[in-house]
Amino acid sequence: MKLTNWAGNVVFTPERFVRAQSVEQVQELVAEAPRVRVLGSGHSFSTVAATDGLLLSLEDLPLEVDVDTATSTARVTASARFAHVMPALHAAGLALHNTGSLPHISVAGASATGTHGSGTQNPCLAAGVTAIELIGPDGELRTLTAGEADFHGSVVAMGLAGVVTALTLRAQPTFDVRQYVYDGLPLDALIENFDEIMNSAYSVSAFTHWRGPVFETLWRKQLADAPAGPATYFGATLADGARHPIAGMPTENATQQLGVPGPWHERLPHFRFEFTPSNGDEVQSEYLLPIEQGPQALAAVHRVADQIADALQVSEIRTIAADDLWLSPGYGRTSVALHFTWVDDLSRVTPAIAALEGALAEFDARPHWGKLFGIGRDRVRSLYPRLADFEELVHRTDPQGTFTNAFTAQYLEL
Ligand SMILES: Cc1cc2nc3c(=O)[nH]c(=O)nc-3n(C[C@H](O)[C@H](O)[C@H](O)COP(=O)(O)OP(=O)(O)OC[C@H]3O[C@@H](n4cnc5c(N)ncnc54)[C@H](O)[C@@H]3O)c2cc1C
Repeated sequence: MKLTNWAGNVVFTPERFVRAQSVEQVQELVAEAPRVRVLGSGHSFSTVAATDGLLLSLEDLPLEVDVDTATSTARVTASARFAHVMPALHAAGLALHNTGSLPHISVAGASATGTHGSGTQNPCLAAGVTAIELIGPDGELRTLTAGEADFHGSVVAMGLAGVVTALTLRAQPTFDVRQYVYDGLPLDALIENFDEIMNSAYSVSAFTHWRGPVFETLWRKQLADAPAGPATYFGATLADGARHPIAGMPTENATQQLGVPGPWHERLPHFRFEFTPSNGDEVQSEYLLPIEQGPQALAAVHRVADQIADALQVSEIRTIAADDLWLSPGYGRTSVALHFTWVDDLSRVTPAIAALEGALAEFDARPHWGKLFGIGRDRVRSLYPRLADFEELVHRTDPQGTFTNAFTAQYLEL
């Protein structure tokens, strides 16, 4: 059977694929293999997880989600997906600071690429990691804790820091959220009132097809005790029923809206765990820019809208707080993320990405490591101020390049 990523656009052809059953087995396999990568839940669209050596799945490792209410943390094994972790935290009266758009992804894989949700005050999910348990190229297991010198380079590391067997996540008291969707936000209104709109709730997302100067929906996920939003908002109108981020898709796949209060983990993701997230038949791209560049970047994308709209299913605008993880696309700057869910047809998507990246060339757009992009090596390298520190870390901890692959070698000096 073909081994592919979730979207099916990447076919993995490793020399060997092993579903490991224990940490000890992973240690033995890693110590023996010249090249190793881990496949998480396979939700990346790029070839970031691929290898021609040993590809490991840790999904069969015994699932552990150990919530510690005394320290407000949870230690989770690499087999854990957010769908396993979030209800356990909530049951203990705790919450994560944010979620991605879907609960289906593995915690380890999401941390490795700097996966994020939305909210100007909310950094990427990996920013909540306080410790990681890692197997190095010699098969030795060690724990790195926040504050240790190598920590900031090892959390968002695309697998280059070693095989992560468990992570400890910081939690906060649980909270309720109400989700309000507005229809028809004019592009001009978003450009002119960008900060006010994107800061108007705990997590805000704006969706458009770029087929006209309008955002079809604006999603405001607000703390439950914040006052309800007005019936109209900058020209947009409160939705009279449930919406799916992609118009026409079944709304029951999306999380509860219409201002019904509910726990954070049932409102902050757009998609419910029981259903296929997004469309399923798609590929994605995403770029993180300094938030100050947001309004101008939206105008720039609008200028090439006719070159991207036919290949596009939907586009989402989010914001993300700065973090201090060296390879995170959100490193050192509060960001706006411009996301594109494309059709599943690279002959149409590739020219659309080229047009889009042309429009974004004047901005400091860091591509999401787990999604498709064409930005070249030199430009990518110029966007990460701690790249040299990261490369030094990898050379020191993995001198033989056991954890490298073609994707990482394309952008890093390994
Ligand atoms: C429908 C959909 C919606 C999405 N929504 C969002 C979103 O809201 N926000 C966002 O930022 N991204 C989003 N993404 C992208 C996704 O979150 C990232 O690509 C994420 O990295 C996927 O995690 P994964 O477990 O599937 O990792 P994989 O794709 O399997 O792997 C990603 C990287 O992590 C490494 N890795 C995985 N596990 C380990 C481990 N145990 N040890 C060492 N390295 C490891 C892999 O080697 C690889 O380098 C979405 C993707 C899809 C398909």
